[in-house]
Amino acid sequence: MKITVLGAGGGEVTGSAYLVETGNARVLVDCGIFQGGKKAEAMNRFDLKDVSGLDAVLITHAHLDHTGRLPLLSKMKVPAPVFCTQATLELSSLILRDSAHVQEQETMHLNKKRQRAGLSPVQPLVSHDDTEGIIKKFIALPYDRDLPVARGMKASFAEAGHMLGSSCIQLSVEENGQVKKIVFSGDLGPKGAPILKDFEELHQADAVFMETTYGDRDHKPLDETISEFISIVKSAVESKGKILIPTFAVGRAQLMISILASMFRSKHMPPFPIFLDSPMAIEASRIYMGHKELYDDELLEFIREKPLMEDLKTLKICPTAEDSIAINKVPGPVMVLAGAGMCNAGRILHHLKYNLWKPETHVIIVGYQGNGTLGRRLVDGANKVRIFGDDIAVKASIHTLGGFSAHAGQKDLLNWFSHLAPSRPKLFLIHGENGPRNALGSKIKELYNTGANYPGMKEEIIL
Ligand SMILES: [Zn+2]
Repeated sequence: MKITVLGAGGGEVTGSAYLVETGNARVLVDCGIFQGGKKAEAMNRFDLKDVSGLDAVLITHAHLDHTGRLPLLSKMKVPAPVFCTQATLELSSLILRDSAHVQEQETMHLNKKRQRAGLSPVQPLVSHDDTEGIIKKFIALPYDRDLPVARGMKASFAEAGHMLGSSCIQLSVEENGQVKKIVFSGDLGPKGAPILKDFEELHQADAVFMETTYGDRDHKPLDETISEFISIVKSAVESKGKILIPTFAVGRAQLMISILASMFRSKHMPPFPIFLDSPMAIEASRIYMGHKELYDDELLEFIREKPLMEDLKTLKICPTAEDSIAINKVPGPVMVLAGAGMCNAGRILHHLKYNLWKPETHVIIVGYQGNGTLGRRLVDGANKVRIFGDDIAVKASIHTLGGFSAHAGQKDLLNWFSHLAPSRPKLFLIHGENGPRNALGSKIKELYNTGANYPGMKEEIIL
């Protein structure tokens, strides 16, 4: 058996894709896009020899860095089915359609500029049609069942606790009468996070491909972060300003809503108006609400007591642009949850433009802010920013809460591996910058006497 690293290797965090080949079958595990800068864009291609004759694609979860290159397969006329959990199927469809729409819009703007400069037009990486083509290929599989996906290969999806529908994939590969188990961690969530169940413990593997995003550190405990969030919201409500939360539409928006619901029910503070100003977050919330079987015991207990929406009577959803504009006229205190999560696009930009210069405004940053984004400039304390061509003074209070990560920190990563360690698997550390992956590798060597491998991009591993 040969496994080729087609992404998230060599210190890369994005672009997850691993090609598993035997004499009988070729299966791709994850099909993610590379994110961040021109170099990443250039990597977002597949060599035809890598994907031709694929028998199946298996997807661990719906984030673009694990799914974003899927439409390329339909563009390249690769007819393989795409297996994943039901919630991943629904969330991937939402995320891939949104991504294709954004790419087509960006390309249209770029082509207007190119036309004025006398240059020929360019094509988006993937189109609406490529995306619809691959969505038709999705097939949902249940969790925890060993089911055939290609000749001599069975796959089982285990809860990964990272986002709704997220999974670790255990691939059983039969070759020359021998069965080997390969485990792909996908992205692992932190233990004890609200809404989702914790990752499932896996006990047997011949080889493990493990993510190492936060392999060198632990996050601040979540209950401390939630207390901090509550005290910021309390003082913001007293100042009667707007509370703006730039929110990733899938995962983080639902987490914030569940925290607000429990804050109101436990009477930490009386309800105040909240606007969910993101069509994509509204749709993602609908998908989350349709999968109660994936909730953790705490949330099930919470909604058994009383439906969530009874605590959220002051929550208004804003599907249209008019709904969004109308928020400007609503006096504070109000909270606005809007995308994009890094303030580099979307409706949050309008709210920031109209409110950043007011001292009574509070901006709460609850997610990672990439280099070069407006969100990062706010976190770094800029006193003036440019939005839609206008200079805006930053008089608002900017609060940064780092403890809401959807990724396991070092302690939880080690816990996940501890259950596999007794079966003495070969370990391949992936999906992490070199610092975090080396740190996790040394820790695993020290605790479990298992030496790690650090595969590079395009590296071929023979098992
Ligand atoms: Zn992810």
